[in-house]
Parts: sequence; C-alpha cells; structure tokens
Amino acid sequence: MKKEQLEEFSSLREINVLRIKEAKEQGRKVVGTYCAYCPQELILAAGAIPVSLCGTKEEPITAAEETLPRNLCPLIKSSYGFAVTDTCPFFYFSDLVIGETTCDGKKKMFELLGDIKPLHVMELPFLKPTESSFALWVDELRRLKTRLESEFEIEIKDADIWKAIEIVNQEKAALKAIYDLNKADPPPISGIELLTVSHSIAFDSDKEEVIQMLKKLTGAVTANNNQAKASKPRVLLTGCPVGIGTEKVIRLTEELNADVVAMENCSGYKTLELMTSKEYDDPIVALAHKYLKIPCSCMSPNPYRLELLERMIEEFSVDVVIDLTWQACHTYNIEAYQVQHLVKKKGIPHLHLESDYSSSDLGSLSVRIQALLEMVER
Ligand code: SF4
Ligand code: SF4
Repeated sequence: MKKEQLEEFSSLREINVLRIKEAKEQGRKVVGTYCAYCPQELILAAGAIPVSLCGTKEEPITAAEETLPRNLCPLIKSSYGFAVTDTCPFFYFSDLVIGETTCDGKKKMFELLGDIKPLHVMELPFLKPTESSFALWVDELRRLKTRLESEFEIEIKDADIWKAIEIVNQEKAALKAIYDLNKADPPPISGIELLTVSHSIAFDSDKEEVIQMLKKLTGAVTANNNQAKASKPRVLLTGCPVGIGTEKVIRLTEELNADVVAMENCSGYKTLELMTSKEYDDPIVALAHKYLKIPCSCMSPNPYRLELLERMIEEFSVDVVIDLTWQACHTYNIEAYQVQHLVKKKGIPHLHLESDYSSSDLGSLSVRIQALLEMVER
C-alpha cells in the first residue's frame, strides 16, 4: 500500500507537465518559483498555478558556466542552466518567474534570468526582528500582489488570499504529519522516500489533490507500522536544500545502513511548522509574519534554525547530525560553525560536508559518513 502511494508521488512531476500544458491552453497562468520565501498564496489567489522550477540536476551546469562563474553554488548554476538550455518544462510554461534577494549569487543571477523571462524580484530583508524590515516585507508582498494583478489583468481580493492561506496551511500540516511519523523507532519512511514526497509535490498544479495524497500516505504508513525497534543510527540532515538529483548524501547514508529520519533544510522540515495565522485583519500582514520566520541562513541572525534543530534532535531521537553545504554557499557554510557548536552541546556526533552536484566525491563522502556512523552506539 505504502509502495503504491509513493509511486503516485514519483510520477507527479511527469503528470504535471501535461496538466500544466493543458491548463495553459485553457488560459490559466503559470508562475515559476525558486525559494521557500516565495508567497505562493498570492499566486494561488491570482488564479495562477505556482510551480517549483528545476535546479537539482548537474546536467545543465556546463551551459550555465558559459555565463556564470564556476565558483558559484551549484543550485544557482543548475537553475540558470535549466533556463538557458530551455530544458525545464515548468520554466518554459511560466508566464512570470519570481525571485527573492536571498543570497548574493541568486540575486545577481536573477538579473541575467530577467533577459529570458518576465521576472519579479522581491526584496527580502535579512534583518528579521526590526520594524523597518517587517514594513519593507509587507510592502514587497503588496508590490507582488500589484504585479500579479497587472500582469494577469485580474483583481486579487482579500477573500481569495484567505482561501489560498487555508489551502497552503492544510498542505503544510499534511506534509508535516508525514515527516512526524519518523519520530517512531524504527522510522517508517526512509529519507529518500521523504525527499521524493516533498520534492514531487512542488510540481503539482492541484493542491487539493496533494493534500488528499499526503493524508492517504499517512494513513497507509500508520496502518502498516508494526515493526520491531531498529538498531540503525538515526541521522538528521541539515544545511542547503536537496532534491531528487542531489540526494547523494541521503542515499549514501542509507546505503551505509543508517536511517535519515528527518531533514531540517528548506526542502524538508524548515517551513512545516510555520502556519499563516488567521488572527490578523489583513492577509498580507499575516503572510509577512509567516514568511519572515523562515530560518534560512540568509537571515541575520538566524536563531530559530538552532532552536528548531535542537528540538528536532530531541523529538526525532537523533543519534548523529550531518550538515551539508553546497560549494560556495557562504551563508550555510558560516552557519555550520553554530550548528556544530549546538550539536556538540547535545553530545552527539556531527559531520559538516561541503560538496557539489557531481559524483566525483562519492568515494570520499562515503568514507567520511562511514567513519561518523561508527561513532554511534545503539
Ligand atoms: S536555502 Fe534559503 S534561499 Fe535557498 S531556497 Fe531555501 S529558503 Fe530559499
Ligand atoms: S544553497 Fe546557499 S548559495 Fe545556493 S542558492 Fe541557497 S542560499 Fe544561495
């Protein structure tokens, strides 16, 4: 049963290429997104389809390096490479692409991307707690709303935004319920399976369908989970985002007989506790509060990431933490120091890995992960 449900998730990306093509033929608009900070509720409220753009494969990086410096984060090069080679169907179908000023590499890459597609860049403040940074973000959300209205010649009403907020809240809650199943010992879902689920749903054009699929999977896993306790080390992965195509650290860890029980990165648990509150009068203010809480390393300081990590180490009974930084990602690389400090304080082993999208370091990664897992006593 669980296998059947997971196969449905694996095929979502392919199915949605066709669905989005059909939706476009019927006049629906498509908006491409790159980052967890993109307020997809506004896109839904505009009657458009938000879709995640490809950026987790090595293949288009060579083409990207004809323009971008080689010494740049592979996620940025892959995203740009997909765009210049026109090999991401979702980029092809996008009427508008939304970017955010998160890290320096991304914001400069967006300048070049704007030559290929209509682009809207949101100015994301990096100082979270100040009044002026909050006011700036509220303005930026309103500016996006206005851009969507003028681009698609529609009016976005507050009621449309509240409806979209409800759907996105439900989707987050349903995905969190699946991640939370792995608090059990043994974890009923492997790290690769978790990644497949969270990666695939980002391409789905129908959020109601996603919510139902997630609930069905939770039900199927819960019904079948009656195994004896496991003796495998329980691993928490944190750091830069991973997706299908860049899952090598998860795959190697599980091949080395450990369980990746949770992922804290933004493709995993980072945003799953963040619900938009319905206690505000203005839905834009409600969204601003939620999005500014995302604990990405581009925020300074970024204490909620450490609080979340500490809680996850306890709640998921984690034996070891692996912190993955993509090469040239300065913000996660520097924050690795604070992560290491926290993990040491929790008294468990920690490994910081720096890598790229290639397979050239599989051997050395495997040796380092193996040595780490040998430190775990279960
Ligand atoms: S790590 Fe941060 S900047 Fe990168 S995609 Fe995630 S939220 Fe966006
Ligand atoms: S992984 Fe780091 S460098 Fe790459 S896009 Fe995300 S924040 Fe920027």
